[in-house]
Formats: sequence, C-alpha cells, structure tokens
Amino acid sequence: MFFDTHAHLDLPPLRDEEEAVVRRSRDAGVSRIATVGIDPESGERAVSIAHRHTGVYAIIGLHPHDAGRLSDTLLARLEALSRCDKVMAIGETGLDFYRDLAPRDTQRAAFREQVRLARRRGLPVVIHDREAHDEVLSILAEENAAEVGGIIHCFSGDLAMARRALEMNFLVSIPGAITYKGSEKQVEAVRGLPLDRLLIETDCPFLAPVPHRGKPNEPSYVPLVAAKVAAIKGVSVEDVARTTTTNALRLFRIPVEEEVRVTYRIRDSLYLNITNRCTNACTFCPKRHDYHVKGHLLKLPGEPTAAEALAEIGDPTKFDEIVFCGFGEPLLRLDEVKEIAAELKRRGARVRVNTDGLGNLVHGRNILPELAGLVDALSVSLNAPDAQTYARICPNRYGAASFASLLDFLREAPKHVPKVSATAVALPGFDPEPVRRLAESIPGVMFRLRPFDDVG
Ligand code: SF4
Repeated sequence: MFFDTHAHLDLPPLRDEEEAVVRRSRDAGVSRIATVGIDPESGERAVSIAHRHTGVYAIIGLHPHDAGRLSDTLLARLEALSRCDKVMAIGETGLDFYRDLAPRDTQRAAFREQVRLARRRGLPVVIHDREAHDEVLSILAEENAAEVGGIIHCFSGDLAMARRALEMNFLVSIPGAITYKGSEKQVEAVRGLPLDRLLIETDCPFLAPVPHRGKPNEPSYVPLVAAKVAAIKGVSVEDVARTTTTNALRLFRIPVEEEVRVTYRIRDSLYLNITNRCTNACTFCPKRHDYHVKGHLLKLPGEPTAAEALAEIGDPTKFDEIVFCGFGEPLLRLDEVKEIAAELKRRGARVRVNTDGLGNLVHGRNILPELAGLVDALSVSLNAPDAQTYARICPNRYGAASFASLLDFLREAPKHVPKVSATAVALPGFDPEPVRRLAESIPGVMFRLRPFDDVG
C-alpha cells in the first residue's frame, strides 16, 4: 500500500473529480494521501476533503509564492485550522528563489513564522525549496526545526544537502520528477540515502511522472515513483511501498497497529528475527534508536520457538534464501538455529546466518562443525582491523579476548560453511581498506562493505 505524502486535491482539475481521483488511487493501491493547502482558503478545502475520505489527511500553510499575504490574522487562522484532527503538518512553506513570486525577505519571514507555528503545535513542517538549499537549511537550524522534524518536499537538492536535512530530523520526499531525464543528482541522492528516511509523493496535479509527463498528475501515479526508487535502490516496489508508508505514518503520528513478526521479507530474501539479545553493544547499532528496518518492526515481545519460526516461514523455497538476522545475535540461540536450519535444508532452502562471530566464546567450544551441512553462507561482522578499534566500536563483556576469537572463527568457518564473508560497516570517516586487507588475508573469506545507515 502506497502513501502519497504530497498532493493538492483541492486544485483544478483534481477538485472537479474528487471522488473519481480518490477511487482511482485506491484501485492503484494508494491507500493514504496527504493533501496540502497553499493558503488558508486552500487549507480549509484540504481539511474538508480529508474529512470526506478515510486515509486522506491535510497539511496546511502558506506557500512561498503567497508569502506577501503574511499577517497576524492569517497566522491565527492557520493556527486555528491546525487544531483539526486531520491536520498532520504545517506547510508547504520555505523559499522559492527560482520563481521569486514574493519578495525574498517576505518569504523568509513567512517561513520562520510557520516553523514557529509548527513547533508551537508540535507538528512536522513541510518544506518547499527551489534554488535556496543553503538558506532553507540555515533557517531550519536557526529556528530549531529539528524539534518537530518534517519533510523536504519535492526534493531537488543533492546527496550532501539531503544528508544535512536528515541530520535535522527531516525526511526527503521524492517526486515524479525522478523519472525525468536530467535528474541524475536526485537519483544519486536516492541511491545514497537510507530507504528508512525517504518518502514518495506526486505533488499532483503538477510534475506527472513518465509516461504521463505533461498531463495532469494524480495520486494513482505514485506507484511509478516507487518503481523508480525501487530500481535505484535495488529493492522491490513492495519494499519501497511498505517502508515509505511506515515512514510517513510515523512522521505524521498516525496510529496504526504494527504486526511484529519473526519473519520479514526484503527483496526476495526472508529474514528470521529469533532474538533481540546481542553479545555486542555496537556503537552504530540502529536498534539504539529504533527497531524498524525497511518498514518492519523487529522488537520481539518474546523469543519464538523453532516450531513457531518454521510455521511462520511456510514454504522456504519461495525465497532466494532464508537469513538468520534480525535485531540480535542468532547464534546466542544455537540449538534453535540448528533445528530450524536442519528443517529448512530438508525442505530445499538456502540458509545464511549473519553473526558477530563470537559464538565460540559464548558457547565455550568451536561451534562451526555443528553448522556444517545446515548453513550455506555465513556473514560475519568484522568491522575493525585490530582489537583496540573493535573494543571501541563493538564493546562486549569478553573485552580483549573477543577480537582474537572473532578472527579464529573466521579462519575456521570456511572449513565447514561453503561461503564466508567478513563485513564492515562504512562508518563516517572510516577507512575500510585495512579491514578489507585483514579479511582477504584469511583463506576462503570474502570482504563486503555495508552501508552505515541503510540496514537490510
Ligand atoms: S550485533 Fe548487530 S544487532 Fe547486535 S548490537 Fe551489534 S549491530 Fe546491533
């Protein structure tokens, strides 16, 4: 199910066929739409539309083009409107130095006032930015917009700008323009950003994606944006739909019942989350902040039995591979891993285990012979070229002994498991080459660099 996070359903021609537009969206799998008012009158229409349809929400504000209308009375009107239960954010506001339809100082004043309004109301703020990237980010920083966060709508910047926005608690929303020729900068940004911080939008009736370019846009076209993002990121359209929808629901604080499952699918792999316990307390671990991975909630209410995990997997041959991973160290539950893997192999599946490689220390013996014939691939988190660095970024109760044990594990693993890789997370400022050299010096071990902020 898709969430179009930026539409203007109150503008022509969409407003003339509201029912049909919403129906076509539903038929295309677009179950949620945020419709954005560009001034108080448009905001009132957006709220009315939102009240008429389940899954449609309103965003209200004063567009930079209309910043000349800014007054205390108008701001009071917006603030009153923002109290409607279907209003999820303030905007779109910001700076448009491309069309310059309002004096720049007036745009700046209207922008600052709306960030303040968003903070007073505790609502995220939706940003319009054309040819004003640096100044938009400066004003967001000066006005402490990070307190409420928000969306850089219709993103037109580059990867560096996007990363600065992410640091300020903003999500980046990708429009249909990503399907146009000449959008290489935005494609590069999408490639470099974690899917967990992206949204998709149409900005309809403008900017229809290919092959509708030049015609009126509408929310039913947002799957075309998702398809382009999926192609760039090398994931499935379902992955993009689920992740961006979850991102939007959480940003707008729309309550939904989230299902916690032991198994979760990304691309054509099925992942098994059998524990949230870890040997390590890695400094970069995403679960320190959040238990979501690509739209899946991985916070387990309790650890599943092997039978429960197998029941949830069903037919494992439907997937490229079954991966013991999740937010925890699977080999802490060695007996369950062996029982589940044995059954998966019996049913013809390919099995991979992602591990911190400290299983021999934890169990006090060499556990690798026990995995022979059950596991096709091991992905071992090496992360550091030496014991000192490892102890700093992957602290655990075994102290100095852990890195030596991890290297022993890697040396032993290829004797029992056909495919073994050592991985490192590309932390900011980190030089992966010494880790690569160390990994590749071990016979039978390959090296893989993992992105820092994109899990799964
Ligand atoms: S091993 Fe993985 S899940 Fe555990 S703390 Fe480290 S990064 Fe997090």
